[in-house]
Amino acid sequence: MSRFWSPIVHKLTPYVAGEQPKLSNLIKLNTNENPYPPSPKVLSSISSTAKLELYPDPNSDQLKDAIADYYQLERSTVFVGNGSDEVLAHIFQALLNHDDPLLFPDVSYSFYPAYCSLYDIRTQPIPLDDQLSIDPDDYRIANGGIIFPNPNAPTGKVLALESVREILNANPDSVVVIDEAYIDFGGETAISLVQDYDNLVVVQTLSKSRSLAGLRVGFAIAQAHLIEALERVKNSFNSYPIDRVAEAAACASFKDVEYFELTRNKIIASREQLSEQLTTLGFTVIPSKANFVFIRHNDFDAEQLAQSLRTESIIVRHFKKPRIEQFLRITIGTAEQCQKLIAALTVICQKE
Ligand code: PMP
Repeated sequence: MSRFWSPIVHKLTPYVAGEQPKLSNLIKLNTNENPYPPSPKVLSSISSTAKLELYPDPNSDQLKDAIADYYQLERSTVFVGNGSDEVLAHIFQALLNHDDPLLFPDVSYSFYPAYCSLYDIRTQPIPLDDQLSIDPDDYRIANGGIIFPNPNAPTGKVLALESVREILNANPDSVVVIDEAYIDFGGETAISLVQDYDNLVVVQTLSKSRSLAGLRVGFAIAQAHLIEALERVKNSFNSYPIDRVAEAAACASFKDVEYFELTRNKIIASREQLSEQLTTLGFTVIPSKANFVFIRHNDFDAEQLAQSLRTESIIVRHFKKPRIEQFLRITIGTAEQCQKLIAALTVICQKE
């Protein structure tokens, strides 16, 4: 380790992003991207975006208005950033830096502990219950904030809005962050609760249901007093949250509701069919409301299965983490990709 490193760097265990392979002939089902391209209207907004010689709008007002229109909100309740990872980073710094520990489910998104070590926030991971679900009763202990994905990742399990409300009611003095990266695939968003709870922050992304992972746009919805804190941190870090191309494309995406619903519904239909087929092959499939499934097979080692799929040019995600080592997380691809996956698994399960 370098003697020039600051003490904080010595303590960091950074998040490792899922593999982005250099080979193009792989069926890539490892990082929960959308298998469909963005709306043609998004693509034409990118090619017609003008004036790249100018800085973008530091307030991203057009995009905030497009999001506010879509969800029937005030612009002052919307914050935007470079992907929800950056939005979350600002939230951790602006709103969760307390003396009491941050509660989050164990297992959930691995970026949370990474941000906690970056910003020196104490943590208290809360184990999922026997069914790999979040139990709202476990979130009644003293804390400096709560964060969880809904649907959870990598399980895909959804928490009903009633249970979200239970957690909010039990924690009126803590900021509660709901990371809704996968909400469009079947969960019920908590955005409707923002007006009733002054401690709620809902985070969403355009990377999954809107096919824009490559563009990096995410947003948060909360009451204006919390958004103001996020704007202060953002403006102390980088005054231009997203670039001109990203803003134009993200606006176009929110306006093309028809395309969004078409591709989202195709993914949901493929998920349901794939879940049935995997069950027939003997896999246990956790009921998913996301654009991925989380599966295990009692007769096969998950890491070995991932290796075997890779030799068939299909990449899926295996986590070497306690409790979920025997699971694979598989992104829902196109109907054709799902069929290839089932064909490959059928052969592998017969051989091994
Ligand atoms: N939250 C969760 C639960 C995720 O799985 C991801 C994607 N890895 C993100 C947030 C971040 O997504 P993005 O930065 O692309 O918006």
